[in-house]
Amino acid sequence: MIEFKGVHKTYHNGVKALKDVSIYVNKGEFVFIIGASGAGKSTFLKLLMREEFPSAGEVIVNDFKLSKLKRREIPYLRRTMGVVFQDFRLINNMTIYDNVAFAMRVTGSSNTAVRKRVPYILGLVGLQNKARSYPPELSGGEQQRVGLARALVNNPSMIIADEPTGNIDPELSYEIVELLTEINRRGTTVLMVTHERDLVRMFPHRVIEICEGCVVSDRRPQNKKTTFSSFEADAVDTTGLFPQSRKDGFNYES
Ligand code: ADP
Repeated sequence: MIEFKGVHKTYHNGVKALKDVSIYVNKGEFVFIIGASGAGKSTFLKLLMREEFPSAGEVIVNDFKLSKLKRREIPYLRRTMGVVFQDFRLINNMTIYDNVAFAMRVTGSSNTAVRKRVPYILGLVGLQNKARSYPPELSGGEQQRVGLARALVNNPSMIIADEPTGNIDPELSYEIVELLTEINRRGTTVLMVTHERDLVRMFPHRVIEICEGCVVSDRRPQNKKTTFSSFEADAVDTTGLFPQSRKDGFNYES
């Protein structure tokens, strides 16, 4: 879970990147964070990963009250999150298998655990037959699936995806969000930052919009199993993301 209580972030140069942000994300939710460039999305992520401190307010993540977290406790917080980056951040001279295995080895996992877990996770993201390939031999969509496998391998309770589809083709972007949706269905909380409104419209997930450091809208599906048109408003929809015109209705279970 994530809780922001009256969070403000003002950088040293006086820029107010976040202004009085209060958000609660429950365990098991899938949330898109949207907003224009400079809106404060990265600042939001940095605060929840404890890369930056709030100027005021409190951030609580997976039961860690971040203002009370000691430096030596930060790795415990970070182990509860798997992070997926826009630019993949794979190691090009390591195989796909080793890229994923490496993330396990650095946390001290045994070889036995690695041999058992890595093929399972590669299977989950549909890359079991790419284990011996190297990142440059893969498409952007495939590389991002490796990024996802690496984020998942230590079994985090939460996935944080920072513009994960920013560097891949639109049809492959859809696949990445589908995969994140499936991971979420299996119980992992997913927080995905994006500015791709078209992509967001295709999935019936909660959408929080940040504009100039403020949360300006927070929309969530009433019932994930029902069609897209049955959204309820928590706030006025300033996003334009919920047109009445979607006739086909997205069925979460299909
Ligand atoms: P987004 O991720 O939505 O593009 P950011 O959180 O990166 O937005 O930035 C929000 C605002 O804070 C912007 O005006 C940006 O220039 C400013 N900002 C971000 N990081 C810093 C920093 N380290 N120092 C000063 N200003 C920053």
